[in-house]
Amino acid sequence: MLDIIVQEETCRNIVYAIYYPRDQLKWTFILTFTFLYIFGFVIFELSDFRSVVEDECDTLLGCFLVLFNQGLRMGGGIGDYLGGGDPPSITEEHATWMRRTFFDLFFFLVVTVILLNVVFGIIIDTFGDLRDQKKDKEENKVTMCFICGLEQRDLKAGGVNWQKHIKEQHHMWNYIYYLMHIRATPLDERNGVETYVARLAFGTADEAGGDIDWLPLDQCLALREDSGDADEEDVLGDLRAAVAALAAQTRDLQEQVAEISERQAEAAAAR
Ligand SMILES: [Zn+2]
Repeated sequence: MLDIIVQEETCRNIVYAIYYPRDQLKWTFILTFTFLYIFGFVIFELSDFRSVVEDECDTLLGCFLVLFNQGLRMGGGIGDYLGGGDPPSITEEHATWMRRTFFDLFFFLVVTVILLNVVFGIIIDTFGDLRDQKKDKEENKVTMCFICGLEQRDLKAGGVNWQKHIKEQHHMWNYIYYLMHIRATPLDERNGVETYVARLAFGTADEAGGDIDWLPLDQCLALREDSGDADEEDVLGDLRAAVAALAAQTRDLQEQVAEISERQAEAAAAR
């Protein structure tokens, strides 16, 4: 039966909803115990309160346990338990009636309404968070590439075919096969890339391994090729401009050379 809890994510999340906020729950319970102790102390000190509970409240610990057991379980707080036997009469025992009214009401508000609901709230909140995380995970499985982490819509916007991308370009099983291949290859037969990947993925005597830096994180060759074309066009444009400038300079030089030779010819004729 416990195996089902481990296997099924929803069951696991219910357990985690209590386990993850354990620190918050611990402090809420400590606060609740503190208040129960204070309420227990009040009952222990006031004889007209204590007489209702009789033998159970002979010691301070007994009073605390009565509150812990009955006060937390009763829907209306400890007032339900204390009022069960013989509630004080408003006319005959007016002072006791007043004190009991405030005591029961205060216990109900602090312990039953606030503290217990804080505990429930923490657990429900955590469960909601875990459910959202599970939903995000399910969504990522469908819309995000397992290898590069790029979103389906970004790849599509870059002109990359999504199915081709996850089945060919970044086919996740190919990466697993590659790791298996490296692991099966003896150390001295690995090439440079394989040695590098093995060092990152499996670690060495000094390094822990499990590093994913060797994966094409946030990048994809198909996307880079597209942007590569754009770069090439830029370079070509620059080259064309440079060649045109060079041709203009050559023309100027030719004109200057022609002018100089003309002047030399004129000077020679004048002599
Ligand atoms: Zn990818």
